[in-house]
Amino acid sequence: MSTSNETKRLVYTRQEMFDFNKKTLEKRGISIEAIGEITFTQQSRYMQNVSRELCIESVEKILSLRDVFHHVQLAAEIDRLAEEKLLKGPIQDIIYEDLGLFGIDETMGLDVAGLYGTIGMTNFGDIDVNKHGIVKKLNDAGKEAGICHTFMDDIVGAIAAAASTRVAQVLSESDALEDFGGRRMTLFDLNNR
Ligand code: MG
Repeated sequence: MSTSNETKRLVYTRQEMFDFNKKTLEKRGISIEAIGEITFTQQSRYMQNVSRELCIESVEKILSLRDVFHHVQLAAEIDRLAEEKLLKGPIQDIIYEDLGLFGIDETMGLDVAGLYGTIGMTNFGDIDVNKHGIVKKLNDAGKEAGICHTFMDDIVGAIAAAASTRVAQVLSESDALEDFGGRRMTLFDLNNR
């Protein structure tokens, strides 16, 4: 139990969480545009009408979610602690050296990737294996002395994968609406059925 009278803040607004996440990512040289670019490349393979704006909007929405806020902040802190050699015991070297058989970073990534549907997990697998754009940069930089991106590369890949899934969901909804005569179904419509 804490004996301090200091007021601790535990919950933040979506705007604050977005701002924190943006700053944390920028500190590692990661821009929202770079994440959106992975989403764009990935989703353009399956759909023709993908815009960069929708990809970036999707990344921004994801970065304001509480679960993602916790993931990004925790991932950044674990990497920092490993860089500063502040973890104790065998886990310090395992995380710092990014051991191939260590999979908790991917488990965290899968958690984020599935936000908008199961295909997010497949999208994440593709990014994890093929290392597109900023994920490759992070992965390569993480091999340099003094830099650890063991958790951050997966979180960034997972955000791109979740954004890909959101883009697919938004565009599918538009297609479905067209088939439905462009009329949006409201709760009122459902009550009348
Ligand atoms: Mg990793």
